Amino acid sequence: MKKDVNPLTPLESKPPKLSKPKNSAAGIPALISTARYGLGNMGVLNSLKNLAKVNDFDGFDCPGCAWPDPDNHRSFAEFCENGAKAVADEATMNRADINFWSKWTVGELSQKSDHWLNSQGRITQPLVLMPGSEYYTPISWNDSFDIIADNLVSLDSPDEAVFYTSGRTSNEAAFLWQLLARRFGTNNLPDCSNMCHESSGVALNESIGIGKGTVTLDDFNSADLIIVVGQNPGTNHPRMLTALRDARKNGASVISVNPLTETGMKRFKHPQNPIEMFGLGSSIADKHLKVKINSDQALFRAFSKSIIESGNLDNEFINDFTDGYEDYRKLVLNTDLDEISEITGISTEELTQVGEKISNSKATIVCWAMGITQHKNSVATIQEIVNFLLLGGNIGKPGAGVCPVRGHSNVQGDRTVGINHKPSNSFIDNLEKSTGIIAPIKHGYDSVEAVRAMESGDAKVFLAMGGNFVSAMSDTNRTSNALSKCQLTVHISTKPNRSHLVSGKIGLILPCLGRTEIDVSPIGRQFVTVENSMGVVHSSKGTSKPASKHLISEPSIVSGIGGALETRLERSGIAWRNLSENYDLVRDLIEKTIPGFENYNQRITSKSGFYLPNPPKDSRTFKTKNALANFFSHEISCMPSSDKFMMMTIRSHDQYNTTIYGLDDRYRGIRNGRRVVLMNREDLVENNLEEGDLVDLSSDRESESVVSQNWYVVPYDIPRGNIATYFPESNVLIPLDSVADRSNTPTSKSVPIGIKKSTS
Ligand code: SF4
Repeated sequence: MKKDVNPLTPLESKPPKLSKPKNSAAGIPALISTARYGLGNMGVLNSLKNLAKVNDFDGFDCPGCAWPDPDNHRSFAEFCENGAKAVADEATMNRADINFWSKWTVGELSQKSDHWLNSQGRITQPLVLMPGSEYYTPISWNDSFDIIADNLVSLDSPDEAVFYTSGRTSNEAAFLWQLLARRFGTNNLPDCSNMCHESSGVALNESIGIGKGTVTLDDFNSADLIIVVGQNPGTNHPRMLTALRDARKNGASVISVNPLTETGMKRFKHPQNPIEMFGLGSSIADKHLKVKINSDQALFRAFSKSIIESGNLDNEFINDFTDGYEDYRKLVLNTDLDEISEITGISTEELTQVGEKISNSKATIVCWAMGITQHKNSVATIQEIVNFLLLGGNIGKPGAGVCPVRGHSNVQGDRTVGINHKPSNSFIDNLEKSTGIIAPIKHGYDSVEAVRAMESGDAKVFLAMGGNFVSAMSDTNRTSNALSKCQLTVHISTKPNRSHLVSGKIGLILPCLGRTEIDVSPIGRQFVTVENSMGVVHSSKGTSKPASKHLISEPSIVSGIGGALETRLERSGIAWRNLSENYDLVRDLIEKTIPGFENYNQRITSKSGFYLPNPPKDSRTFKTKNALANFFSHEISCMPSSDKFMMMTIRSHDQYNTTIYGLDDRYRGIRNGRRVVLMNREDLVENNLEEGDLVDLSSDRESESVVSQNWYVVPYDIPRGNIATYFPESNVLIPLDSVADRSNTPTSKSVPIGIKKSTS
C-alpha cells in the first residue's frame, strides 16, 4: 500500500467552516470578492486599467475560460468574478524574483501548498536548476536556448522529446510550438485537451465530422430548450449564466443535469443589473435532475425514447442527412425505463415528465463540460447526446446544436492551429508545403502516454508551453516520478508552480509575458489571436507594462529555441527570428496551412474577429467518412456497482484549473479548507461518520492501493454512494491507467474510492 506523501495536498489542521450552499450566483458577494482579489493583487490604478481592457475590442482576451464575447458590442465591464481574478492573478504586483529563488531551496518549496506558490507572484528572469543544486539560479536567455538545443540533439530519436501545450497559449505561439516539434521530427504534442475535451473531439468527429461545438451565442436566444449537463457554469464559465438568463427570458426552458445542485444553475444576479442585484435575481434552470455519477448516457437514452415514442422526429433531416437511425431506433425502443431509473437515480415518473417536455422542443442545445468527458464511457455518452439531438434535426438550424464548453481560453484554438498528437495527413501535407519542412507522420504521445514514456525512459526531454503538468495530470505521484526521470524539463511559465519543483536532471524555468502585457518586438508592437469556444478568432493585445524587463513573449521563446536548434541540425530554412519579430508572418503561415484562415491578417482587424467555417452549422455538411451525420448504437454502460464510493473531482469557486486563488468555495458554503470530501448524510450515518471527521481515501491499482490521508467529511446534497473532492488535490487518487475508451482522457469524474476513518 502506497501512502500519499505529496505536499500538493498539505494536511489542514482545522476542519473547514461550513454554511448552507448559496441560492444565487454573482450579485454583491461577487463584486466584493472581485474587488478584494483585484485590489489586493494589482492595486487601485492597475485594477482600473486592466479590468477596463479585459475582453474589450482593443484590449486583451480574458486568460480565464473560453466563453465567447458578444459579436458586436461590449459592456463597460465585459468580465466575470473569475475572469477578474485570472487577470489580477497575472497582473499581480508580487514578484518571485531572484531574492525569492535564492531564499528557498527546491526541497523547501516542495513543502508549500500550490496556493502559497502561486501567491508569490511573477517570475522575473530565466532560471536553471543544475544537477546537484538545491536552488534555481539566474541564466541568460541564450544559455537557456543552448541547453535545450544541446539536449534535444543529444537524443537518440526526436520521439524522445515531448512538447506539452497548455490552453492559454495563443494561436501564434501554438503554431510555432508545433512547428518546432515537427521540424525537430516528432508529433509528441500532448496538451491539456487530452485531459478535458478529448472525448468530445473523438465523439463529435465521428458523429458530425467536426470536433467542436455547432452553436453561437445568438443560438441561445432562439433555443426552445437548453440542457446543461456535467457542467458548473457558475464557477467555470460564469458569463454563460448571462446567456442562460437571456434564453429563459426569451422563453427557453433550461434543464440542469448534475449529481450536485450547483448554485449558478439556481439563480443569477447579474452584476450590471441593479434590480437583479438587490432583488431575487433571475431563475436559471427550471428543472434539475440530480443524477448519479456516470449515468448520463442512460439518461439521454431515456430522452431519445421519449422523442421516438412521441413521434416528434425531424424525419426529413433523418432521411436526408443521417445514417444509422434504424439500428438506433430499435435499440432505444428495447430500452427499459425502469433500468434507466435504477442507473440514473431518477424515478420513471420524472423521466417520463421530462421526456414530454423535451419531445416538444423545436430547437434544443446541449451544453457539457468535464462532467461528461472524464468517464470510461465518455465517447459513447457524447455520441448518445448527438443521437438525441439528431432525432429532432438539432444540428445546423437556429437555436440548436452541440455546445462542449471549453475551460481554458485558447484550448480550442491551439488544436485548430496544429497542437495535435494525431495530425491529419492533410495538415501534415499543408505544413510541409507552407514551411518546407519534412514533418513526421507517426502519431505522437498524448498526456497519459507521455507520462508512461517518461516513466519507462522512452522520453527524456519534457518541454511545457505553460500549464502545471504535475498538478493537472492524474496520478500525481506517478506523474512526478516520471518527470523526475527526464534529463531535462523546461517550463515556460509566468508564476511558480508545482511542476517547477519536480524537475529532470536539469530544470529550466523560462518566464514569459502574460496576456495583459504589452508585447513589443524590434519592429514594433505585436498582438496575438485566440479562438473561443464558439469558433470565433479574434485579437488580444496586452496593455500593461511587463512584470520585468527580462520577460520575452512565447513566440520569441519558441523562436529562440528554434534558432539554437538550427545551428545544430541541417538548416530548415524557417526564419525563426523574423517570425518572432513579426506575428503577421506567423499568421501568413497559419493561413497557408489551415483552411478557414483565408486573409487572416486582414480579417483579424475586424473588431470582433471572424468565425471559422463550421460545416455542420453552416450548411449541414458532415465531413465524416460517409458524409452523413451518424447515429451510433452503443450499449448502455456505466461503472459497475461495488462497495466503493464513486468519486468525482470538482473545482472550488476560488480556483481556476490548477491555480488556487483562495481556500473558500463560497457557493457551496465551504470556507477555509480544500481537503474535504462531500458525502451524502445517509452515507455518513451508515459509515459511523460525522461532519468534520477525518477520513483516509484509497484507490486501487492493479498491484497496489494508494491511500490519501486526512480528508474532512462535509455532509452535502449528493446522491448516495457518490462523493466529490477538489481537483487537483485528489488527482493523486486517479490511476494513470484509468482512462476513457478511445480518447484516453483520465476518468477524473468516476473513480472508485474506499473511505476509512483516519487513525493518524
Ligand atoms: S466567463 Fe470566462 S472568459 Fe468570460 S470573463 Fe469569465 S472567466 Fe473570462
